[in-house]
Amino acid sequence: MNNNPQNDSIMSLADRYMFQTYGRFPVALVRGEGCRVWDDKGKAYLDFVGGIAVCALGHSSPLVSRVLEEQSKILVHVSNLYYTRPQTELAQLLVENSFADRVFFCNSGAEANEAAIKVARRYSNEKFGPGRHVIVSMYNSFHGRTMATLSATGQSKIQVGYDPLLQGFKFVSFNDVKGLDQAMDDSVCAVILEPIQGEGGVVCPDPGYLKEVRDLCNRHNALLIFDEVQVGMGRTGRLFAHEHYGVTPDIMTLAKALGNGLPIGAMLSTEELGSVFGPGSHATTFGGTPLVTAVSKAVVEKLLEKGWMEEAGRVGEYFKGKLEGLARRYPFIKDVRGLGLILGMELDRPGTPVVEACLKEGFLVNCAHETVLRFIPPLIIQKGEIDLLVEALDTIFQKVGD
Ligand SMILES: *Cc1c(COP(=O)(O)O)cnc(C)c1O
Repeated sequence: MNNNPQNDSIMSLADRYMFQTYGRFPVALVRGEGCRVWDDKGKAYLDFVGGIAVCALGHSSPLVSRVLEEQSKILVHVSNLYYTRPQTELAQLLVENSFADRVFFCNSGAEANEAAIKVARRYSNEKFGPGRHVIVSMYNSFHGRTMATLSATGQSKIQVGYDPLLQGFKFVSFNDVKGLDQAMDDSVCAVILEPIQGEGGVVCPDPGYLKEVRDLCNRHNALLIFDEVQVGMGRTGRLFAHEHYGVTPDIMTLAKALGNGLPIGAMLSTEELGSVFGPGSHATTFGGTPLVTAVSKAVVEKLLEKGWMEEAGRVGEYFKGKLEGLARRYPFIKDVRGLGLILGMELDRPGTPVVEACLKEGFLVNCAHETVLRFIPPLIIQKGEIDLLVEALDTIFQKVGD
């Protein structure tokens, strides 16, 4: 045991007892409210990471606290051997507000994508017979860290050392219609992609691209899977990002903001695919517990309140305009992109020094794909809070600048 009180801090204990899977910043956060969090020394930070696009309603949301407390006194968990009301009502809410007819609940984005991969393969097996198991994915994508989802992820850096990976994935470049056309053959059962690539550095689809993907899937009897784990749940100003592009998938996966911080994932599909998962074909102990789904239902209802998501979208446009203003003044900013409140600022150099400077100034900001500053704040972020970040970035960029 370590009895030295100086070494007894949260950080040193974590360094000593936990797998060092995360390159953490040297900050221990102890409390949050709205778009602010505080560390163990009492320093406040404005949060533009939002738990990585999770805390849509902000920290310590009174709504989430109330439902969590109430449901915790009614029923927390029983198992999916029995019907429960919150789970059923959340499924109905998601179906009534999406293209989908059926929902499967799980606990994370990776699990939602696992379920999607399993549905796609099983459907193809049942309908077309064996041998049609290939799923086409995109380079620069991110679908999770389980063996199947990291095999589906088009980034070799997260696959290193885990061979053999799951077979049956083929990769093409995002926004490359021709490349996808060439990849589509008789072995392909599905195409999986993020409507906007998140971890890949906030990469948006070119105009018309998603429609072309849909057409190619139709022509080859392949299913289209949209991974909306990061961009879904109101972040773009609509409930689901694909609604902006007039393209409907066969399967959609959700997680991150679905529970505002409680662990929940969901895989949604059309009626035809719904029959692929019968009793015993797929399951998870914790998927859709009354506690988590009661909170999620309250979160989704909040997002659906008239004008709520649209306002988040407008605030996102304001934010983007401010970032573009910075880009006009600092030549090392190569690009500003994104939709609603998922925004990326690509630099011509690593973003980590900027992220560290922001942290010092009291702002949580994140870097995706090495050179892209990514802004994915709670959807309740205010223009005044955005102004504070933009001022801080301006000061930081003056020091960074050539
Ligand atoms: C975060 C993320 C995942 C993985 O979700 P986990 O809950 O971490 O398993 C999958 N797809 C996308 C697009 C994500 O952003």
